[in-house]
Amino acid sequence: VDQLSRVFDVSAPWLNRMIDRKPKRYLRAVQDVTFVVEKGKCLALVGESGCGKSTVARLVTGLYAPSEGAIVFAPADKGRGRGKPMEAQMIFQDPHASLNPRWRVGDIIAEPIREFGLRSGAEATEARVAELLRTVGLSPDDAKRYPHEFSGGQRQRISIARALASEPEFLVCDEPTSALDVSVQAQILNLMRRLQDELGLTYLFISHNLAVVRHMADRISVMYLGRIVEEADTEALFADPQHPYTRLLLQTIPDVAAPNRDRELMGGEPPSPLDPPKGCAFHPRCPMATDLCSKTAPEVRARKGGGTVACHLAPAA
Ligand code: SF4
Ligand code: MG
Repeated sequence: VDQLSRVFDVSAPWLNRMIDRKPKRYLRAVQDVTFVVEKGKCLALVGESGCGKSTVARLVTGLYAPSEGAIVFAPADKGRGRGKPMEAQMIFQDPHASLNPRWRVGDIIAEPIREFGLRSGAEATEARVAELLRTVGLSPDDAKRYPHEFSGGQRQRISIARALASEPEFLVCDEPTSALDVSVQAQILNLMRRLQDELGLTYLFISHNLAVVRHMADRISVMYLGRIVEEADTEALFADPQHPYTRLLLQTIPDVAAPNRDRELMGGEPPSPLDPPKGCAFHPRCPMATDLCSKTAPEVRARKGGGTVACHLAPAA
């Protein structure tokens, strides 16, 4: 396919060092995750916290190295080397934590321009910073100010400007709006969509919120305990969710009026990834589980209507 830009295939099982540093205990955070990001499109990875989606984001951008197994970047155009990550920039959930508080905004945005030698001379760099600030809806004068002088939404605009400064083709966005008020979220999402159109960007968009993802993504991969359980075009997934977990996620689209409803519907917290259930990992919470589900893990197979699904009860494609 001409349009295809990369297939990410975390093809071998690998282990990720456990967060609490207990000796000799490892967390298998992600396993056998394969997805395709088409150039100029947005793929969303969706799932509850702890499902491994942030780990995938960090592997794809090279922030983490797999502790076992491999990540295979399979380019559609043979001209590019195999096994090399794409030029990617990352936008994080918390812009407060990811922006150096002691640096002026202008220096924060200028850093990648200098590092990659994208402009020669202070004047050209300054002009580029001003242009980037305008691109994200801020004023060139904001270059002189410090991150703490801005609101959460404005700080996320600064993060986006910094990510764009190195002229990436691919942006990995990990919950970029989850720390923001709902009204501000919409502004940032609209900005990201406009930038995608104008600059031809490709997005990998990580979120726990299907409502957010619906407006951003062309395609959605649903993750559960480190594996992709269903993958399809956005409208197909919303019209006909075939994995029971996807159906539950759709019912639990966050409702500010009933914050605890999600957990009740979902049957409690997800199991620990340190000790994943046998058979289908979702079976302890699945309303449709049978005996087979607790013994045998379902294969990933073709999904009726396009995409893939991993459930014994999904209809034949
Ligand atoms: Fe539920 Fe069984 Fe399908 Fe797993 S395989 S999602 S437990 S029905
Ligand atoms: Mg996360």
